[in-house]
Amino acid sequence: MTVARILATKGRDVITTQPHRTLHEVAKILAEKHIGAIVVTGADHDVVGILSERDIVKAVAKKGASALEDAVSRHMTARVVTTTLSSTINSLMEAMTGGRFRHVPVVQNGRLEGVVSIGDVVAHRLADIETESQALREYIASA
Ligand code: AMP
Repeated sequence: MTVARILATKGRDVITTQPHRTLHEVAKILAEKHIGAIVVTGADHDVVGILSERDIVKAVAKKGASALEDAVSRHMTARVVTTTLSSTINSLMEAMTGGRFRHVPVVQNGRLEGVVSIGDVVAHRLADIETESQALREYIASA
């Protein structure tokens, strides 16, 4: 199963922000949209970073509430691990587990095509397991 299949179900909408925005602005977006991370894009709409709720928590824990006025660029992760539409879900799960992050932007030919979260991956794995067990039940019943 590929990343493209997950995006076919969840859609390709990506919430983005820019490096000069503040952590407070991003916190409001994360809360409103019920998401855990935001992709940071540059002038050419290229991916220049990712900022997750963990980065905001870390910044506030270290610096106090004043960190919320800091620019996104100060706290984002600039070396973003991305995936492609044709990547397998297994390789995506490996990247998430190995890198200890829960969000991966999907980039194809330099274009941001979507974001996959650990929640999307788990939902797809569960649906797959259910389909497999249903097929097994039918096989056993017809034997
Ligand atoms: P998360 O588990 O997604 O909340 O992110 C945990 C940490 O990993 C935060 O510091 C994020 O900025 C960073 N992070 C999240 N997603 C990625 C990614 N795809 N590539 C690199 N770092 C990431």
